[in-house]
Amino acid sequence: LPSRRIRGGDGIALTRASSIVFRAPQENFTIEDFEQERILGVGSFSKVVRVKKKDTGDVYALKVMDKDFITKQDKVQHVKRERIVLDQLNHPGIVQLLFTFQDANSLYMALESCEGGELFDQIARKGHFSEDEARFYMAEIIDAMEYLHGLGLIHQDIKPENLLLTADGHIKIADFGCVKLTESSQIMLPPPAANPHETSSLIEGTAAYVPPEALNTSPATIGNDFWALGCTLYQMLAGTSPFKDSSDWLTFERIRTRKVVFPGYFSDEAIDLIDKLLDTDPGRRLGAGPGGYPALKMHPFFKGIAWNKLRDVSAPTPK
Ligand code: ATP
Repeated sequence: LPSRRIRGGDGIALTRASSIVFRAPQENFTIEDFEQERILGVGSFSKVVRVKKKDTGDVYALKVMDKDFITKQDKVQHVKRERIVLDQLNHPGIVQLLFTFQDANSLYMALESCEGGELFDQIARKGHFSEDEARFYMAEIIDAMEYLHGLGLIHQDIKPENLLLTADGHIKIADFGCVKLTESSQIMLPPPAANPHETSSLIEGTAAYVPPEALNTSPATIGNDFWALGCTLYQMLAGTSPFKDSSDWLTFERIRTRKVVFPGYFSDEAIDLIDKLLDTDPGRRLGAGPGGYPALKMHPFFKGIAWNKLRDVSAPTPK
């Protein structure tokens, strides 16, 4: 790791844990050092802007978070957790954090810019994907998830909005604000905050993608991500997520009863894979169950995928 010790900051600096040596440094930059080009996306606690550094011309996706807002929303730990976790990740399928800086009002995280935008927008533009397109994206998502789970990290918010595309159409997983560590995790995080208001909310993630056991407040497992992956595959092929309804309550009802309607054009392999990823028993869910990742990768839907050469394959043409 490039060694660079981080200065402690004022207020809610992202890097107050003075003993942590970060790979992505906290720089002394100001927002004036960057040309702000356009908004790439807006999240619950941030906006993400495409910026160009004036002196180098380098382009970044700058995640801008208002300190007052995240303090009032009791999300300081959420933001710090994302920063600290992202710093420890290094995989072609994960958005890379390059550096951070701050000023009196805002925290800034400079991420590599995923110029292809959200997978969600590609689904919306195309209506739905062909099975070949979905197979390509699924394989790259699974490859990145295997890396995360191998480190003992549960993402907890896998969905097409958080799956970004590079300029050449390959997948990068983003948004690590909801991550949870498994007991055997190799990721280092400072102990949880002593802020009684900032416990994790009852259900982490996004309503339409949470598994049924999460509705019974069972602790999250890697099974959460495989369920969300099943919802994502369905959405790629159908154009809409399988359980989304007009309110969270109705969505949860559909998840509880696991009512999934498969359009007639889905192949038997796709139906079988989704069915197995949406197993209501997280212990049997494909990927999380006893066969683990090998069983998932051997599913007939993935016939022909060269798992060790994923990034050498040309990506589907974007719309
Ligand atoms: P959430 O409400 O999901 O917690 P958040 O505040 O954590 O959101 P992100 O999900 O990280 O924010 O980012 C919001 C949006 O900004 C993304 O959905 C995406 O459209 C865009 N975005 C984020 N990171 C990048 C990136 N590296 N390159 C391009 N666009 C990005």
